[in-house]
Amino acid sequence: MREIEDCRQHADYELAELITACIAMFIFKQGSRNAFNNQRQEHQFKSQYRKLFKLRLPHMDTVDRVLRRLPDEALERLKQRMILALLANKALHRFRFMKRWFVVAIDATGVMSFTQRHCEHCLHRCSKTGKITYFHNVLEAKLITPNGFSISIASEWIENPEGEYDKQDCELKAFKRLAVKLKKCFPRLPICITADGLYPNQGFFEHCRHHDWRYIVTFKDGNLPTVWEEVHALGTITPDAHCTERRIQGHSETVEQLSWINAIDYHSHRLNWVECIETITDRNTGVQTCTRFVHLTDIPIDGACARLISRTGRLRWKIENEGFNSQKNHGYGLQHKFSRGSWQATKNYYQCLQMAHLINQLMVLSTAFQQHLIGKMTLKHLWKSLLGMLTYGELDEHALALLTQRRIQIRFIT
Ligand SMILES: [Zn+2]
Repeated sequence: MREIEDCRQHADYELAELITACIAMFIFKQGSRNAFNNQRQEHQFKSQYRKLFKLRLPHMDTVDRVLRRLPDEALERLKQRMILALLANKALHRFRFMKRWFVVAIDATGVMSFTQRHCEHCLHRCSKTGKITYFHNVLEAKLITPNGFSISIASEWIENPEGEYDKQDCELKAFKRLAVKLKKCFPRLPICITADGLYPNQGFFEHCRHHDWRYIVTFKDGNLPTVWEEVHALGTITPDAHCTERRIQGHSETVEQLSWINAIDYHSHRLNWVECIETITDRNTGVQTCTRFVHLTDIPIDGACARLISRTGRLRWKIENEGFNSQKNHGYGLQHKFSRGSWQATKNYYQCLQMAHLINQLMVLSTAFQQHLIGKMTLKHLWKSLLGMLTYGELDEHALALLTQRRIQIRFIT
C-alpha cells in the first residue's frame, strides 16, 4: 500500500490508512459506509482496530474522497500482488487441475443498475415497454478450487467508451481486454480457463491458443453446428470412448455416464468433446434426477481423465456461488452503491471488496476456523461475535504482538 503514489499534497491520514479502512469495512461485512462509521463511533472498536492494524481508522467520507481520485489500476495491482504472494508461497498449488493448471473461471455479473443515466460509461437496455435501464457489469477472472476458493485475479469493466460509439461494449469484447490483462500480470502461470456457453467460438479458441492457456467450456446444443454434426457422426463409430462411474454416499447414489470424442477439427482447432449424464437416485424414495453436462476442451480426453475434465468444467458454478453470490448476499454488499456520484470510487470499492473477500476466504477455508463451524453454527453468527469482541472485549496487545511474531501455518480444508 505504501508503494501506491499519493495524489494528495497535504493529508492527515496516509494512503495506507484509508485503503486499509476500506478493506476492513468489507472484511467486517458492514454493507455500507454509514454502518462502518457507526461502528467507528464506538470508542472501544476504534482503539482495538488500531491495536490490530497499527493504523488509525478514518471516517469513511475521508476514504471516499480519496477513492474518487485514486486510479483504479493501483488497487487492482495491489490485489494482484496479494495473489502473486500466495502463488510464490505455493499456497494454492495443491488445488491445481491435473497437478498442472490453475483453474480460472470467466464470468460477468451485474454490479449496479439505475433508472437514469449515471455516468457516460453506463450500459443501457430498453425493455418491451420502452423503459430504459442503465447498468454496470464487470467481467471477472476468478481462480477457483474444488474446496471452495473463488479468488478474483483480474477484473474488466464492461463499459461504453466516452463520446460516440456504434455498438455497446459486451462480454466477449471485454474478454479480449481481460485476457491481455491476465497474461500481462501472470505471464507464466499455467492456466485452464473455464467459461459458460457464451464462449465456445473461434475468437475464444484463438485467444487461448495465443496466450498458451488450456480451456474447458460449456457446449450447448445449437452452438457451433458443424462441431455437433461431427459429434453425432463420430459418436456412432467410436463406441469405446465411454465409461460409467457409480458411487454411494448416504442415501443417495450417483451414476455418471461419460462419453467423449477427441480431435474434432474446427477452423484449425482440435476440439475434444465430453458429455456426462449424471443420475442421482434417492435410495429411500427412488426419486431420480438426471442432468446432462457437455464440454469442449483442448485437453486430450481418455478414460483416466474424462470425469475430472467434466467435473472441472462444472466447477465454474463456484464463481456464481462462492464468488458472486457471497459478495452480493452475504454481507459484502457487491450491489450496494458505496459512492453514488463517482464511478471512479465505485471501481475502487470493488477492488477493496475483492481483497477483503480473499482475506476472509483464507481464514474461513482454514481447518482452524472450520472447527467453529460445526453443527448449525453459521458464518453470520461468527462474524457477529467477532465484531462484538472488538466492540466490547479487550485485546491484549502483548498477546497480539507474540502472535504476530510467531510463524504460523494455515492449513486449508480439502
Ligand atoms: Zn454509469
